[in-house]
Amino acid sequence: MFSLENKIAVITGGGSGIGKAIALLFARQGATVYIVELNLEAAQQVATEIKQTGGNAHAVAADVSDQQAVVNAFKQIGRIDILVNNAGIAHVGNVENTAAADFDRVYNVNVKGAYNCLYAAIPVMKQGNGGVILNMASIASHVGITDRFAYSMSKGAIYAMSMSVARDYLHSNIRCNSISPARVHTPFVDGFITKNYPGQEDEIFAKLSKSQPIGRMAEPEEVASLALYLCSDESGFITGADYPIDGGFIKL
Ligand code: NAD
Repeated sequence: MFSLENKIAVITGGGSGIGKAIALLFARQGATVYIVELNLEAAQQVATEIKQTGGNAHAVAADVSDQQAVVNAFKQIGRIDILVNNAGIAHVGNVENTAAADFDRVYNVNVKGAYNCLYAAIPVMKQGNGGVILNMASIASHVGITDRFAYSMSKGAIYAMSMSVARDYLHSNIRCNSISPARVHTPFVDGFITKNYPGQEDEIFAKLSKSQPIGRMAEPEEVASLALYLCSDESGFITGADYPIDGGFIKL
């Protein structure tokens, strides 16, 4: 079940957190993994970890917000069977606390970054046997999250973008879905806590964990398991769907 043998998988932001867990799991399931990262050193470390356990992995430097860099990086990769658009950044603030430069930065990485990767990958998938795309949305795509104006805008766009792609490529053997996690315990969350609540890290971590209906944050590996299912042939009838992985956040 869930074999990715002979698949080429591109994972953006695979040097840390959720992307890293996806890269490790996909490689374990037989995929050759390309980690497309702003942080080349982090990507190289993950690739080394994969190779040390007998897997195939490559680190590729690219800023997903830069279309030419993405096109060049994807040219180096060649065939692509799976694209996981995972790279993303956070921003805290309501409308009044969101400077235009911050809005642009979140838009350029989270929204345009995903578009740039779709733009580079879809023609390659069409030339091959099709493919599977998984976009990283968020609970912020579905419900109002306090002080996350730009971030919510970006994740709402990811949700809509996924359905548009799924419809346009229904008959090109390309499936496209999204995942909407609530809080996942990654450097993304740790960095947010350290930056905004210095000296109160443990207290805030406990508070954030309790704010999830299930009483804890997700582990990156739990998100990776869902990603594996959605990128494997076993989910062949699923396209245009979004899967919350949220400990009950949206509905409970
Ligand atoms: P993370 O910060 O641990 O990892 C993100 C990775 O993306 C980093 O390695 C970073 O170098 C890379 N990256 C950032 N900007 C990039 C760029 N311009 N080009 C290429 N790579 C870039 O984050 P994470 O928590 O693993 O989050 C991964 C994704 O999941 C993000 O899209 C995030 O919005 C989403 N998400 C996270 C949570 C959470 O609670 N952690 C919840 C919902 C959704």
